[in-house]
Formats: sequence, C-alpha cells, structure tokens
Amino acid sequence: MPTDPTKARYYRKQVPLFRLVEKMKLWPSRRGILHGVRDFEPRGVHAIIVTHCGKRMVVRDSKTSRSARWLRNKLFVEACPQCQIPEWKLQKYAATRFRRDYGSFLRDEDDPGR
Ligand SMILES: [Zn+2]
Repeated sequence: MPTDPTKARYYRKQVPLFRLVEKMKLWPSRRGILHGVRDFEPRGVHAIIVTHCGKRMVVRDSKTSRSARWLRNKLFVEACPQCQIPEWKLQKYAATRFRRDYGSFLRDEDDPGR
C-alpha cells in the first residue's frame, strides 16, 4: 500500500542539504525552477547533481545555502516541464513541513523503510 502523498510529513530544519536532496530527489535552481534529480553523487562537501532534463551541477553541502533555504521554504516559480516530476511527488513535497523542534532528521535509523 503506497503512502498517501498528501499526508503531512515533518522533517527537521537541521537536516543536511544532501540528505534532503537524496530523499526528495528535487532541486531548486537559481532561476526558480524545481528540477527532478536523476543522479546524485556526494563527493565530500560537494555533490554532482544530474537532473531529469539533463543539467549537471556541482553543488555544495550547506544547511544555510540558498538552495537549502529554497528547498525548505518551497520557493520556486514552476516545476521544470522537461523533468516531468510526477504529481504524487509534488504533492508529497507540498505536504512536507520543516520544523526546528519536531520531525525526522532523515537518518537511516529514523527511516527503516527506505
Ligand atoms: Zn529540469
């Protein structure tokens, strides 16, 4: 039975950016486009992201970066049409809340079903 994508889920604001990207497979570009992540390769403090529309980016892990903030605050103008992010994934993202004092840290032990 798949989980209801509209069910509220809570993640900590303190979750590292890379963990968040690995989990949600979404990336907000500087131009306000939300891309779907096809490949994510962490390389220490940097990671290589390849989007479904074929963009390749090197990004830096930081909880306070623009991308981390935009991802948490859902600041994007539109979902990338080429990435074709499925509706359930966008619903799941919309239902995700970020809290300082409550929610999952997305550590492996918090998420045995992964
Ligand atoms: Zn895209």
